[in-house]
Amino acid sequence: MADSAKEVTAVSETQAAPYYLSTGNEEALFEHAWQHQLPVLIKGPTGCGKTRFIRYMAEKLGRPLYTVACHDDLTAADLVGRHLIGEGSTYWVDGPLTRAVREGGICYLDEVVEARKDTTVVLHPLSDDRRILPIERTGETLEASPDFMLVVSYNPGYQNLLKGMKPSTRQRFVSMRFSYPGPKKEQAIILAETGITEHRAKQLVSLANALRALKDHDLEESASTRLLVYTATLIKGGFDPVEACRAALVEPLTDDEETVNALMEVVYATFGR
Ligand code: ADP
Repeated sequence: MADSAKEVTAVSETQAAPYYLSTGNEEALFEHAWQHQLPVLIKGPTGCGKTRFIRYMAEKLGRPLYTVACHDDLTAADLVGRHLIGEGSTYWVDGPLTRAVREGGICYLDEVVEARKDTTVVLHPLSDDRRILPIERTGETLEASPDFMLVVSYNPGYQNLLKGMKPSTRQRFVSMRFSYPGPKKEQAIILAETGITEHRAKQLVSLANALRALKDHDLEESASTRLLVYTATLIKGGFDPVEACRAALVEPLTDDEETVNALMEVVYATFGR
């Protein structure tokens, strides 16, 4: 594939601050890290609020946000930039990391352990006190703007050992561990996001916690806050709660029919058959 055809999901987001409900001291910690130019690593299961938190903090701190969804084809050039060909000559285009470094933005690498190993080469000098980005292809070495911040996230739950983060890389970051919000907060989030009734929100949260407590099923992931929001959206739209749970809470968790049936038993215990 030609370099220019490769796509990086990089989004510079500058819209109004999204709704975010704090679950601890994460806002203060993140703000301190930003003020002191420390990179941040956020660990936590899928759908527990990591991305929402970073969008909220970027807005709060007034910094542009560049989000990159990492995947196993992602190379250093996807982050740093590349030469493109146009009208007979080549020109340089900054990648999302370079833009954040120049503009004093926040570069958020979601699921960073998915990225190819050569990306760590560019992240290392940016994540210690040098805060530089050497751009091999142009011969430039950029000093990061004082407002630049590197944020990475990953889900330690389902990484295999090979894909876990190298300790030497992990040690470069201030680390924050996210998990699903406690019941009261999770209810408040579902209410705020969907406008469902309080009674339904409460039922959904207790159902999710019952599903999360199941240990004897080989689920890679648990019922997330995101899935609860999806389920509540369907219920709010008029769907029968049991069908909404099947479609938005249970089927997304597994392809195994027996496991679906077992999880549905927990749903019936909450909503009836
Ligand atoms: P992650 O990045 O951890 O996979 P997201 O940040 O995309 O998860 O969160 C998924 C959804 O859950 C959000 O779109 C939002 O609706 C909801 N959510 C989770 N935690 C919170 C929170 N603390 N405040 C507001 N919404 C939240």
